[in-house]
Amino acid sequence: MTGFSSPCGACKFLRRRCVNGCVFAPHFCHEQGAAHFAAIHKVFGASNASKLLTSLPATDRREAAVTISYEAQARQHDPVYGCVAHIFALQQQVVNLQAQLESLKAQEPVQGYTNTCSVSSPEEDSMKAKVMACQT
Ligand SMILES: [Zn+2]
Repeated sequence: MTGFSSPCGACKFLRRRCVNGCVFAPHFCHEQGAAHFAAIHKVFGASNASKLLTSLPATDRREAAVTISYEAQARQHDPVYGCVAHIFALQQQVVNLQAQLESLKAQEPVQGYTNTCSVSSPEEDSMKAKVMACQT
């Protein structure tokens, strides 16, 4: 990935020579890597990111690079909450869907007794499909 001609995205951004075995090279490609690394450098600092990746086993570095990049971009977008804003939003979505699910579960036995032909509306079907999709 490093090659002799083009530095990795991180080294391109830092304007330094990309050495053989550069810790960033496998995770930050020449083209898009520089933009991702710019956020990481601004939020965490290149040296801290390098130390973090170096301290991890090589098998875990890919995931760490992806999450650092995600966290850095989220922090730039939302300086107060960062990626925690996404977590809050998803938690709220889970709470809402669980409430919907409970409400649907509560309705089901009643429909069985009162509605003998059991034809449900398209809205109910799509709601059920959404809830089912979120459970898996
Ligand atoms: Zn490099």
